[in-house]
Amino acid sequence: MLLTITTTYQPATELGYLLHKHPDKCQSFALSFGQAHVFYPEADNQKCTAALLLDVNPIKLVRGKGTTLQQYVSDRPYVASSFLSVAISQVFSTALGGRSKDRPELAQTPIPLTAKLSVLPCRGGEAVLRELFEPLGYKVITQRHHLDEEFPEWGESRYFTVELQHTVTLSDLLSHLYVLIPVLDDDKHYWVGDEEIEKLLRHGEGWLANHPAKEQITKRYLKRQQRLTRLALAQLTEEEEDPDITEESHDKEEAIVEKPLSLNKQRLNAVVTVLKNNYAKRIIDLGCGQGNLLKMLLKDSFFEKVTGVDASYRCLEITQERLDRLRLPRNQWERLQLIQGALTYQDKRFKGYDAAAVIEVIEHLDLYRLNSFERVLFEFAKPQTVVVTTPNIEYNVKFETLPAGKLRHRDHRFEWTRQEFQNWANTVAEKFNYKVEYQPIGEEDTEVGSPTQMAIFRGVGSGE
Ligand code: SAH
Repeated sequence: MLLTITTTYQPATELGYLLHKHPDKCQSFALSFGQAHVFYPEADNQKCTAALLLDVNPIKLVRGKGTTLQQYVSDRPYVASSFLSVAISQVFSTALGGRSKDRPELAQTPIPLTAKLSVLPCRGGEAVLRELFEPLGYKVITQRHHLDEEFPEWGESRYFTVELQHTVTLSDLLSHLYVLIPVLDDDKHYWVGDEEIEKLLRHGEGWLANHPAKEQITKRYLKRQQRLTRLALAQLTEEEEDPDITEESHDKEEAIVEKPLSLNKQRLNAVVTVLKNNYAKRIIDLGCGQGNLLKMLLKDSFFEKVTGVDASYRCLEITQERLDRLRLPRNQWERLQLIQGALTYQDKRFKGYDAAAVIEVIEHLDLYRLNSFERVLFEFAKPQTVVVTTPNIEYNVKFETLPAGKLRHRDHRFEWTRQEFQNWANTVAEKFNYKVEYQPIGEEDTEVGSPTQMAIFRGVGSGE
């Protein structure tokens, strides 16, 4: 299996610095499944091509499985597959990470690059190949192979020779190949578990969240495992921009807009008061973020059980660290649980609570997913009390630092007027047998209302 990467950036031999492989040398690397060789078929100032030749050992592939026909007829040694992704990540790890000791700036600069894959299996055919690479800006040139070159009448195979051209950083090109090759092949040679989500998010950073085929990519990358796909998609949707910025500055960004009111504090106080008034002692905080509410609840011994749920593992790590700093006695800790989960999928772990808090979360969900969220919460988890807060968009005109028409946070999918929020909440209450009332949070303006709106739902009848 052969991958070549060519640049016409000048001097083209700079490619050697970016790949950390000298153009004059041929280097070999032992991998668990065979050998990788790196060499340069051409290297001058105008044009430089690096080749990664992967020699997959078919016997190693089936070692321990007895002698099977598969080791003779398998396509694995000859086609681009997850073996190639692993080889890229091991042989070109520095370049994949966007680093270069000698040319750090060039590593971050888009340069003209062409990747050529000698044999790429495409499940779904050329259309899928184009759907994956063209939205990223690649010019895709393909040549499809017949099932048998000598007998073209046998029809066409799913194998293509593919050339991908784009002006792009080397690190982006390698990341795209790393993720999309196994997606096209729709297979992986190793067990796919939770850690695969982290790889997908890491190598998909900056491009996957906005990719029109992100759902298909995620599904195939995670070998169609539903639980993993949901979790990954929930995180991707949340992290549509830079995940570092989104997570760490969510509080900050909104806080800057809302600061003069210290709205966050008022919101949390209002929610805690509602929970207490409703005698809710076991609380699940859905979309807990970095644990602001959890912290208040944990410090208050009125609350017997405190559970935080978030799709973002990073958020939960930060929450855990922040709560650790409370230095609570051990028996207090037992009240706390943190769960990584998606709010739009039914989850047994959400059951058994007196109240759910959904604080500044619904506006992060795509409108078309709200229905699923409603069912997960009001139909399946079904706590007696539900507190939902969300921004009141009418109030935005009062924030001096917020440009007209802009939402309070760039991950918000929508912000509602009071009427829109109440229409939604009334419908939900009626559908799922709850009663709902509303409270403003923050300074109330006679015309535009308060900055935050809160709905308090109470189950009618037995509840759970
Ligand atoms: N309730 C917190 C955080 C609000 S930010 C507070 O008031 O400070 C919204 C949070 O919802 C983020 O942490 C985000 O990761 C989480 N989130 C968004 N969509 C989600 C989903 N589909 N499943 C689980 N969590 C989600």
